[in-house]
Amino acid sequence: MHDAGNLEDSDKKHIWHPFTQMKEWAEEHPIIIAEGEGCFLTDVSGRRYLDGVSSLWVNIHGHRKQEINEAVRSQLDKIAHTTLLGLSNVPAIQLAERLVKLLPGAGLLPDPVLSRVFYSDNGSTAVEVALKMAFQYWRQKGVEGKHSFLSLNNAYHGDTIGAVSVGGVDIFHNVFGPLLFKTFRAASPYCYRCELKKSHPDCGLACLQNMESLLSSHHQEIAAVIIEPLVQAAGGMIVSPPGYLRGVRELATKYNVLLIADEVATGFGRTGAMFACGHEAVVPDIICISKGLTGGYLPLAATVASEEIYAAFLGDFRDLKTFFHGHSYTGNPLGCAAALACLDIFEHERVIEGMAPKIELFGKELQAIAGMGHVGDVRHRGLMAGIELVRDKETREPYAWEEKRGWQVALKAREKGLLIRPLGNVIVLMPPLSITAEELAWMLGVVRESIREVI
Ligand SMILES: *Cc1c(COP(=O)(O)O)cnc(C)c1O
Repeated sequence: MHDAGNLEDSDKKHIWHPFTQMKEWAEEHPIIIAEGEGCFLTDVSGRRYLDGVSSLWVNIHGHRKQEINEAVRSQLDKIAHTTLLGLSNVPAIQLAERLVKLLPGAGLLPDPVLSRVFYSDNGSTAVEVALKMAFQYWRQKGVEGKHSFLSLNNAYHGDTIGAVSVGGVDIFHNVFGPLLFKTFRAASPYCYRCELKKSHPDCGLACLQNMESLLSSHHQEIAAVIIEPLVQAAGGMIVSPPGYLRGVRELATKYNVLLIADEVATGFGRTGAMFACGHEAVVPDIICISKGLTGGYLPLAATVASEEIYAAFLGDFRDLKTFFHGHSYTGNPLGCAAALACLDIFEHERVIEGMAPKIELFGKELQAIAGMGHVGDVRHRGLMAGIELVRDKETREPYAWEEKRGWQVALKAREKGLLIRPLGNVIVLMPPLSITAEELAWMLGVVRESIREVI
């Protein structure tokens, strides 16, 4: 048995937690996780919780999944880490070959469109790599002036400086303003709070027209459009209206800018398809993947580029067309072995096919929540959902963010054995894809009761 008290003291003395006001942390009793199995986590005092946000959106097939455990163990008996700088390794090669056959556009042509896998270790680095690749691509094509990017309001692409520069969640990012490079910002496809004061579907996708007007004036300065396909996740689980993603692809092509799809949150089945781009038959020029890649086991990411982009980096050594970027743990063999096992499970257990009834149940249960007082909007795609709490349902007046309404619901849910983490006033639900129908129904019941009790 663990000494929970000692661990808590030691945590408070030594750990600085991410996205956490540590003054508040010091006043609370944190949950300290000791183990997990399936969709459940157990803390050091033996209390069990349902992992309602997949350990921050990464877990896919549940915790302590036998096949992934075995794959990592077996790789451990070979080698834990070596480098991709000047060397290669077996699982990194096998995973790259496997990934390109799965990504959007694979199978459309005899060869995959997204064909060149550049590994790194997290979502933010995957985005940094994509931005640098897109920027350098145009220089090497001899196209001058494409020094900027177009991103969306409410976008989240990670916490490193480049990723923050293309981010649009002001509460996270404003303080770093002076450090960031300037980007063009298009309207967020956030129908519940439309920036353009339109309503869907009468708007005719005015948010796309807004993007088009930026592109038509500035395409010569823009290297790429970067978006989170279908769901702006950290911005509040904002689900884009049908046709929006497809429209962005068409605009990028029309104005000769690259399209970077950040599928760090949406990839690996979250939206009910292997990749969100698949829902609208969109093939980006560059895709970023990370969170679910290893099934939530190990930090690994990939930025996958088209052959066309890759080819622009080829030349004699003295041409300096090399992509000068890399990380110590690039292509980590343990991570790649976990990812291979994760993909095996998708196949053997027919995971995507099995999601359909769960998504239906999820939708039905969410509908019931949508009818509650102070629930302004409920949005979901696949097994990702956001429940937006509002002070006034009629006027859509939000709660002041300082009130931490989302947190109050999350803390109540915690008392009932469900771990969730909100985004401001938006309650986020994103369980592992392996959640059973019974667990899902229980989870939504707890959310409903928690909202009723605290709001
Ligand atoms: C989480 C996230 C990132 C950042 O990934 P990290 O691994 O936390 O650096 C980037 N893009 C999207 C869409 C994300 O949801």
